[in-house]
Amino acid sequence: MKEQNYLDHLVGVFGQPVAENPGVVIQDAAFEAMGLKRWHFLTLDVDKDKLGDAICGLKAFKMRGINCTIPHKIEVMKYLDEISESARLIGAVNMIVNDNGHLFGENTDGKGFMMSLESNGIEVRGKKAVVFGAGGAARAICVEMGLAGAADIMIVNRVQDRALGNALMEIIQKNTKSEVHYVDWDGPFAIPEGTDIVVNATSVGLYPDVDAIPNIDLDSIKPEMFVQDVIPNPTESAFIKEMQRRGIPCATGAGMLINQAALNIEMWTGRKPDKGVMYKALEEALS
Ligand code: NDP
Repeated sequence: MKEQNYLDHLVGVFGQPVAENPGVVIQDAAFEAMGLKRWHFLTLDVDKDKLGDAICGLKAFKMRGINCTIPHKIEVMKYLDEISESARLIGAVNMIVNDNGHLFGENTDGKGFMMSLESNGIEVRGKKAVVFGAGGAARAICVEMGLAGAADIMIVNRVQDRALGNALMEIIQKNTKSEVHYVDWDGPFAIPEGTDIVVNATSVGLYPDVDAIPNIDLDSIKPEMFVQDVIPNPTESAFIKEMQRRGIPCATGAGMLINQAALNIEMWTGRKPDKGVMYKALEEALS
């Protein structure tokens, strides 16, 4: 007789708005390819003031884990038993693992970024990076690069958010050995010679504003540099297409997102998913 075990293993995402979050498409494709028939990813609309109830639900249903997106990434930290070092420095958690009621919080935004660099053969230790933006993604990326031993990180952000940039600079200064600078972004920015890694960590180019390119002096980006974008939708942003046209080595935000989702699955199931299957599912969902 066949084994009769119909127990469901639940993971998912808490957010609001969350309906357009493509996590389910990527994760379900991975589960299917892995033969994990009873694993399900739920897209859950959770009100800002109901996060505590949602966490109780997660524990009651013995959900294996959850992703958190806007507006819960900071608030959720108070419900957790343990938080990774980088998530604590970033000040936000976007994924939780539930080990029999013990909730561990991680921030996989910056980890997906590091995995993307690694899969392109880019080492961070001792390197000079320029990061555009000082929001959540930039924070995660700068913290991970700092902890990984980057020699120099230059944060470039619009004047109106100098406070955010300064706060981020302080985190890197206090907690890592990297040199860190903050520069106001008030015109086409020329990438300094000797830069190794250039990161667009702004939302410039995100759907529906798909023709927008960050205000960078593109001629200052040289083929010996590596460009990483964070934009996941479209899967190839206008900036990345321009880099490809110019022969600059680069990687997409979609690839970063897939790495992040793959890490979620590995932390939840203990198994590595097929990233190719996940990327294809994302491309189909966004086409
Ligand atoms: P935030 O809102 O926290 O930050 C947005 C950043 O973009 C700010 O620094 C903001 O600058 C800057 N910005 C927005 N518009 C412009 C503009 N016209 N010119 C210059 N700077 C601009 O968002 P997040 O950091 O959470 O997300 C940023 C992007 O990263 C999003 O597109 C998101 O989809 C993507 N992302 C991708 C991930 C992946 O795995 N691929 C993971 C996480 C995020 P200012 O402070 O001056 O407003």
